[in-house]
Amino acid sequence: MTVLDRFRLDGKVAVVTGGNRGLGRAFAHALGEAGATVAIVARDAVASSTVVDELTAAGIRASAFRADVGDRPSVVAVAEQIASEVGPVDVLVNNAGICVHRPALEVTEDEWDDVMRVNVNGVWHGCQVFGAQMIGAGGGVIVNIGSMSGQIVNRPQWQPAYNASKAAVHHLTKSLAAEWAPHGIRVNAVAPGYVRTEMTPIDQPQFKRHWVDDAPQQRAADPEEIAPAVVFLASSASSFMTGSVLMVDGGYTVF
Ligand code: NDP
Repeated sequence: MTVLDRFRLDGKVAVVTGGNRGLGRAFAHALGEAGATVAIVARDAVASSTVVDELTAAGIRASAFRADVGDRPSVVAVAEQIASEVGPVDVLVNNAGICVHRPALEVTEDEWDDVMRVNVNGVWHGCQVFGAQMIGAGGGVIVNIGSMSGQIVNRPQWQPAYNASKAAVHHLTKSLAAEWAPHGIRVNAVAPGYVRTEMTPIDQPQFKRHWVDDAPQQRAADPEEIAPAVVFLASSASSFMTGSVLMVDGGYTVF
């Protein structure tokens, strides 16, 4: 086996939550290009079906499933559906997430709850529900999408709920890595810096000074620049990694 063979995912089934746009869409393409059969999970069925068409046109076996990751019964139902229609899941990428920009004293109870519900409970549901299947099958790989916001505080916009949620994702990753290593399950996280997606309005002038000019590479990433890190963590190329949070931020957090 050559080193590049170790990045291959032939014969594997990979689930990507939030796979119908932004980073998740790029992860779905990359995992499929590495040989995996891809199941994307999100709420907007039209957007999901567009991405499935793209993947299929690229020769990737792909299907879409509708679920709200914040709703446990919805995740349980979709996991059963994927197991019966696609097959046992080898790789789970917990990518679905939301962000609210608001100073702390103005954050409403609903906004706080929404962010925690999707970003923390959603990752927890994915890990627990698909993790149970993986333990039953004798192994698997989980890649959680955290953020550099789990380590630093972004500016000039305030986003306390989001930052706290991503710190929780990082530490949940380490907790499950420790607990599930004896079951043959690796759990790692990718912590992206600023990436050009609907979530992150890179091109708005008020953000450029802090988000772009202050960064060593003086630019944001495209989603395709984060995807190889997910393939790495999903594949046997990272077989001795578990409990890691892999920062992919163009150097932003060195300052
Ligand atoms: P987008 O807003 O572009 O996409 C979010 C995705 O999550 C969509 O596919 C959406 O699909 C899905 N989603 C949202 N809520 C739910 C839900 N309740 N149930 C199921 N799916 C849901 O975001 P990005 O691509 O930018 O972000 C992806 C991940 O990367 C997030 O976890 C984010 O925090 C993280 N990240 C992003 C960075 C960036 O700069 N963009 C930087 C660091 C981390 P639908 O609405 O159809 O459900």
